[in-house]
Amino acid sequence: MARIMSGVQPTGNLHIGNYLGALVNWVRLQDQYEAYFSIVDLHALTGRPEPAALRHAVREVAIGVLASGVDPERATVFVQSHVPQHTELAWVLTCLTPLGDLNRMTQFKDKSQHQPDNINTGLFTYPVLQTADIVLYRADRVPVGEDQEQHLELARETVRRFNHVYGETFPEPQVVKSSAPRVMGLDGESKMSKSRNNEIGLFETADETMLKLRGAKTDPARLRKTDKGTPEVCNIYSYHGFFTGEVQRAAIATGCRSAQLGCVDCKKLLAQNLEVVKGPIRERAAVLREQPRRLEEILAAGAHRARAEAEKTMVLVRERVGLGAPRS
Ligand code: SF4
Repeated sequence: MARIMSGVQPTGNLHIGNYLGALVNWVRLQDQYEAYFSIVDLHALTGRPEPAALRHAVREVAIGVLASGVDPERATVFVQSHVPQHTELAWVLTCLTPLGDLNRMTQFKDKSQHQPDNINTGLFTYPVLQTADIVLYRADRVPVGEDQEQHLELARETVRRFNHVYGETFPEPQVVKSSAPRVMGLDGESKMSKSRNNEIGLFETADETMLKLRGAKTDPARLRKTDKGTPEVCNIYSYHGFFTGEVQRAAIATGCRSAQLGCVDCKKLLAQNLEVVKGPIRERAAVLREQPRRLEEILAAGAHRARAEAEKTMVLVRERVGLGAPRS
């Protein structure tokens, strides 16, 4: 079975962008691959979160991953910082990565603009740690959204460089395209993100979601209910694409174009369909929150499996690059 590796950041509460972009795919991929799924808390440090908030976010994301259907018996689910080999390998790869390669990463520029008071070195070398995350498990496949494709290309380049300098060691990871590469936020202007405050939370109740949807952007040319709309330019309609069946979606499009369907009713339909997905996840998450010991055990077992696999790689890497074995 080919091996797959993917990570999700514990930044704020999970939203449907995380769900569609990562978790839905993880549930599917766990049956097709030997899967390593990580909550990448070391990456989250680049945003300098409050320590208590980070710990809380790690737990909540782990709960979300499991409540969404990832099975810890089938997939290895773990927290990145519980496997110290990630940072060790990241340093080895940092020493192989030309500055110019990192300078080309557009995400660094985007993130720097987003946190101008905290442009730290970790933000710049983030893609190297991401490469370490992947190659530490010698993963053949990596599911990525379109905004991560540049980082994956860097990872592949780094693998080629390592194999060229030190001898064949890592497989070149291949992209598995995400089925929902980009989920826009409620503002319709940027990608859904907690930090932009434009998200639909995965654990929100139906009422909370409806409240947010009320203020969400629709077709900007449709100012009154009597105006005919164009669903293709409407952000709400794009969400229907993920959560609404084909027949109802076609009826919505017709109703919008003919002005028979108002935006409020269209949003109510979306809220109902969202609840069909979110309701059971929210219930399973509530059960997990009541069992903190069980969550700890699942993550400890995942970290144990991940560390064993990571150490196998690091024994080889240390030997290849000329480092001594660590003292036990
Ligand atoms: S009816 Fe629905 S698809 Fe049409 S503009 Fe309103 S929210 Fe968008």
